[in-house]
Amino acid sequence: MYIRKQRLLTPGPTPLLPAALHAMMGSDIHHRTEDFRKLYKQVLSDLGTVLGTTNDVLVLVASGSGGLEAATQNFFSPGDETLICSAGKFGERWVEIMKAWGMKATVLAAPYGSAVKPEAVEEALAKNPNIKGVFVQASETSTGTQHDVKAMGLAVKKTNALFVVDAITGIGTMPLAIEDWGLDIVIGGSQKAFMIPPGLAFVAISSKAWAVAESATAPRFYFDLKKEKKNAVNGESAWTPNTSLLLALAEALKYIKTLGMDNLIGNAQLLARATREAMKALGLELFSSYPGSSVTSVRPPAGMDSGVIIKEFRTRFNAIITNGQGSMKGQIFRLAHLGYFDFHDLFAVVAELELILAANGHPVRFGSGVAAVQEVYAEAAMLKVPELAVQ
Ligand SMILES: *Cc1c(COP(=O)(O)O)cnc(C)c1O
Repeated sequence: MYIRKQRLLTPGPTPLLPAALHAMMGSDIHHRTEDFRKLYKQVLSDLGTVLGTTNDVLVLVASGSGGLEAATQNFFSPGDETLICSAGKFGERWVEIMKAWGMKATVLAAPYGSAVKPEAVEEALAKNPNIKGVFVQASETSTGTQHDVKAMGLAVKKTNALFVVDAITGIGTMPLAIEDWGLDIVIGGSQKAFMIPPGLAFVAISSKAWAVAESATAPRFYFDLKKEKKNAVNGESAWTPNTSLLLALAEALKYIKTLGMDNLIGNAQLLARATREAMKALGLELFSSYPGSSVTSVRPPAGMDSGVIIKEFRTRFNAIITNGQGSMKGQIFRLAHLGYFDFHDLFAVVAELELILAANGHPVRFGSGVAAVQEVYAEAAMLKVPELAVQ
């Protein structure tokens, strides 16, 4: 018998920042008080700071999908023509949302593990000037793929269409120059790089999008962003907010500001690179040909179901990692890097993976994956004084 601490290592929910978790204990406040208004104003302002935008950023009580739905119903009308870039399960979610709200969707689909090319977006926009919105995932979490939202944004910016970016795992893992790249509506979620539990969605909205909202006719009640904006100005939310998560978020944003958004992104990128090197050293193949830094999707050795790896992480080490979604189930396992992940986590994950592979008849030279991570650490971080963000 030996101790196995539980470790949540999935790409959402992600590991929690202890200070944020502790802050949730202060939830016995009322939301129509000065205490709350101060908290809410701080959170809204800090969200703008870490996202690097002066666009309005609103907070909704919902998981990330609520933010996707709000972005649809507040800026578009039934019958509108939309262009969906779909490279995985979350791209398919955009298509389902369009269907639910009666928008007409043209789908630019890339096979799982691949990405939609910006040129295809430019071409589709040139062919159909009636397109009112282009929808994409900055980071497609189901496959571990990153989209070139900069090139896409610059193409959409030249048209009247709005560019709607599900950046739920893009935020904190890749640069996103919201205004410069013309990202009109950017959606985030609390349980990803923000290091707090699920339940809040964030929506950053450009002035181009607000202007379009004036004539959008899709019905809305709970997710009424104009109403939220009006209330936000006074430090309030339209409905009863999720006070405990806002307390957590305030702490997490303080931490991210101290760290610096660039460093949060750099952290994810370095861990992702080290992970790719480790997988190569272990002879494992990456699933994505455009791998992002939120999560790395890896194919198990030939003949092995990835579910075995996921199960053994849990049973042997009490570590929770994710399988593929939908038809990718059994085909891949996913190692996350977004938010509160560090080298300590990665060393353990790679060492454990080596043991799991060996225990299942796939001989590995113990330490070969770990050594690859050590090489990346040594090259990138060895000589730096590690003064940053100890918490
Ligand atoms: C997590 C995630 C979502 C939102 O899912 P919820 O379960 O509604 O929070 C949407 N898009 C992407 C890319 C995600 O990773």
